[in-house]
Amino acid sequence: MSNASTNKPDTATPLKFPSPLHVGRPNQGNRQRLIERINDMLDRNWLTNNGPFVQEFEKRVAEYVGVKHCVAMCNATIAQEIAIRAAGLSGEVIVPAYTFIATAHSLQWQEITPVFCDLDPRTHNIDPAKVTQMITPRTTGIIGVHVWGRACDVAALTEIAGEHGLTLMFDAAHAFGCSYQGKMIGGFGLCEVFSFHATKFLNTFEGGAVVTNDDELAARIRLMKNFGFAGYDNVIYIGTNGKMPEVCAAMGLTNLESVDEFLAINRRNYNAYREGLAGLPGIKLIDYDERERCNYQYMVVEVDEDIAGVKRDALIELLHSHNILARRYFWPGCHNMQPYRSYFPHAKLLLPETDRLALRIIVLPTGTAIGPAEVENICEIIRSATRA
Ligand SMILES: *Cc1c(COP(=O)(O)O)cnc(C)c1O
Repeated sequence: MSNASTNKPDTATPLKFPSPLHVGRPNQGNRQRLIERINDMLDRNWLTNNGPFVQEFEKRVAEYVGVKHCVAMCNATIAQEIAIRAAGLSGEVIVPAYTFIATAHSLQWQEITPVFCDLDPRTHNIDPAKVTQMITPRTTGIIGVHVWGRACDVAALTEIAGEHGLTLMFDAAHAFGCSYQGKMIGGFGLCEVFSFHATKFLNTFEGGAVVTNDDELAARIRLMKNFGFAGYDNVIYIGTNGKMPEVCAAMGLTNLESVDEFLAINRRNYNAYREGLAGLPGIKLIDYDERERCNYQYMVVEVDEDIAGVKRDALIELLHSHNILARRYFWPGCHNMQPYRSYFPHAKLLLPETDRLALRIIVLPTGTAIGPAEVENICEIIRSATRA
């Protein structure tokens, strides 16, 4: 952990950052525009229940992604639960174990069994070859997750779902603004679910949406997210409250106006990390496919402890001591969290790649709060810990 071999003067040793650099620090668009919108909203006194901002936000998102329908909701977890219910899934649904816990919870919450499938270590996404092995007579669907915004193998999953008569959906929480084979994510499978949580590329404070080209599904989801109301005093369906409030849509519309800026900043930071970490033994920044659209929202590093000569967790501790709040991600995997750990004590036998990856990943800070100088410092701290 010394700089002696690099002949750098002590002054090059990075200092502790004065304020913490978080992973997932929110991207905010033009504050003046947001305040104008909030004033409009207050003047109208239309605060929720499918107001003009929510309608406009849905229209803009649908256009951006190139789908027929966008149904905005209070968050992606509720959006996913509603989509699963509206799609009629039951029994067992195949999901990756390497995902945020909400993917599994949105099934188990309605007593559908999440069946955890292993990942492809090259992509970090669900491995289609292993999906086939997880299918049983009770299986009704597959939910792929576009981890880090890098698309699943949509073609292979579509083929498997078709062959076995399964419904295919996607948790696209990471993937707003990303593409698969040149087509925007959002239009694949029966439907896809975006998250607009504060930490995501596009945020509405809290929020989410189901996007789909299926008219009937969209109509059912609209009923379900509004208590099943088909009009005043007319309930025709069992529903819940999944509505997005106007203030969230105002934030979303404002941030949508700045997505190109957020993207440019993320890409600049990614390239700076690329440069700063180049050649470090055992430290590999994940690739984003330059031929696709990417949001570069996740600065993901794989640590090979044996080659790097430092433990992943020791590296995180070191970064934290410099006020860089790097994070493990999806660690220890859904199958190792409750209640799934108790429900499926043997799940890990089929999840060797998930267990391996969960031990290797560090996610570093990016976003509008961070510039090339910070990135250089972060890389220098990582370099000081490795065998470089
Ligand atoms: C953030 C996230 C969710 C949940 O989104 P919320 O809007 O916070 O409910 C679901 N799945 C994945 C993969 C996520 O990253």
